[in-house]
Amino acid sequence: MLLSIVPGAPTMKFNTALSFLIVGTIIFLYLKKKKSSMVITLLSIFLCSVSIFTLFPYFFELSFNIDNLIVSDRYSRKFPGRMSIATTICFLVFSTASLGKLSKVKSFQKISDLLVLGIGIVSLQVIVTYILQILAKSSVLVFNSMAIHTAILFLLISIAFSAMSSKGGYTYLLYENHTGSKLARTLVPFVIMLPICLSFLLLFVLNNEWITTDVSISLYTIAYTVLSLLYLYHLTNRLNKADIKKKQLESSLYNTNQELMQFKYALDKSSIVMINDPRGIIEYVNDKFCEISKFTREEILGKSEKVLRSGHHSKNFHRKMYETISNGEVWLGGVKKMDKYGVYYWVQTAVIPFKNKSGDIYQYLTIGQDITRHKWLSSQYENLKLKTKEMEQFTYIASHDLQEPLRTVKGMSNILQQEYSNKLDKDGNACLEYITSATDRMSHLIKALLDYSRIGIHQKREKIDCNEVIDIVCKDLAIIIKETKTVITVDPLPTLLVYPMEFRLLLQNLVSNAIKFRQENKTPKIHIGSEKKDKIILFSVKDNGIGIEKKHKRIIFAIFKRLHSLDEFEGTGIGLAHSEKIVHLHGGEIWVDSKLGEGSTFYFTIPLI
Ligand code: ADP
Repeated sequence: MLLSIVPGAPTMKFNTALSFLIVGTIIFLYLKKKKSSMVITLLSIFLCSVSIFTLFPYFFELSFNIDNLIVSDRYSRKFPGRMSIATTICFLVFSTASLGKLSKVKSFQKISDLLVLGIGIVSLQVIVTYILQILAKSSVLVFNSMAIHTAILFLLISIAFSAMSSKGGYTYLLYENHTGSKLARTLVPFVIMLPICLSFLLLFVLNNEWITTDVSISLYTIAYTVLSLLYLYHLTNRLNKADIKKKQLESSLYNTNQELMQFKYALDKSSIVMINDPRGIIEYVNDKFCEISKFTREEILGKSEKVLRSGHHSKNFHRKMYETISNGEVWLGGVKKMDKYGVYYWVQTAVIPFKNKSGDIYQYLTIGQDITRHKWLSSQYENLKLKTKEMEQFTYIASHDLQEPLRTVKGMSNILQQEYSNKLDKDGNACLEYITSATDRMSHLIKALLDYSRIGIHQKREKIDCNEVIDIVCKDLAIIIKETKTVITVDPLPTLLVYPMEFRLLLQNLVSNAIKFRQENKTPKIHIGSEKKDKIILFSVKDNGIGIEKKHKRIIFAIFKRLHSLDEFEGTGIGLAHSEKIVHLHGGEIWVDSKLGEGSTFYFTIPLI
């Protein structure tokens, strides 16, 4: 049954089946990754020989007796066991094509493509012949001797072999992943099948003599045109939809691209940018990079990023950085680099690894900010801190040591006053009084200096209820408060971790100043408030005193700076310097808001810890 599927039609010969087995093996070998060219060549030559030996008796009186060599054919009457001419030619063509495909010459490969295409056309013609059932009525060339399943197998072989066509081949186009190839793949079956189906119908109608030949041919033409147009409409619709989608994608891609360009522009303007491959070879640098490194693009591209190393960082530093980025994580940190002329600069750097689809890192993007000045400033700041500490130590030692000779001067002038004042005349006594009051003042100033240098010496924060601190301050200042009839109002204050001695001194300074710098004929009113803002407490000490001119708002915090003479208001000018130092000790800021003649509000902040 399998030998002859269509009753009465030619059967598939044993040699044909055997040759198909060889063809199948050749195609299988071609598909293998490591194709064994030797075996393919041998099999192709074998197939070629079988075909030639089979063809010989068709044209010459010479026979090689290979038709029934293995199995004798009991079914065919004409040339039993012999492959048909068409089948043999197809195998001959296939074997030639297979050898051609193995060749490295491009034109041979192209010819192979054409040959295989020819097999496809021949087999298709045979299939069509069978379908249209004209086999019995008229003979179409030599192809009518081929079995239908042989033809189908040849068609499949032709498709399979042409699908293996290499780039540049004739059939390669049909299998590409582009719109044109996709369109061709959709069109080809339609173009082949439509006339076959219509012809089949036409013959069927004609055989049954339902309508006349003229009518059936015109119907055929109309059906062909209409169906083709319908299919064309369907295809156009599909292509248009795909095109609209593509255009939408293009426009969103354009927008994304624009955004990216803007980001890139912003990045280039604000940062130093460098891209290097996983081996560290520099592939891209922006203008800012060239500006700071002094290298031109031509000089630096293709070089290793190691040329920028300053030698400041240890091997361990670079190893850790590499470990982080090769794990796909972003590395952040400050790096000291060296420019083309050996000048150092600091860059606050972020190294970002970029991964491809398969997760492998293919490049590193380095974005940096020049922090050379910042580094210099912070080192200056550290120096300054050291110097300030030294100054404070000096002030402490100096003021401490000055006290002793001053005490002697004071003691001696006291003795002079007590025991020798009657021996001095009026001017002498006045001079003595000046000396005494000057030494008193000097003693005050030295004590103030000593206090200033002692601020924060015994540093230990404690939890303190600020309301209690205000109570103590008011008690200490009770006499002056009573004398001046000062009215003090206080908001509920928080409990804070502060340096207790210093914090009390701070509030005492501000409250006593608010009383001291009161306006004549006006009852002094002081309000103490506090407000929580994020992680700080903002304190305010508000008075209705004489106020401060705008230009003096900063200067009053300088040590020994006073705006008034001793006759107007007594004092040493160190109170606000003390206050500022105490606030800084707590990590806060102090400033004043004031209007001359209306009053002042001193603000200070204490960060919460
Ligand atoms: P002193 O009070 O010993 O003069 P301070 O350092 O406490 O020194 O103050 C410096 C200067 O700031 C004062 O001399 C005064 O002119 C001004 N000042 C301070 N507090 C007030 C205030 N509440 N109102 C007006 N002026 C003030």
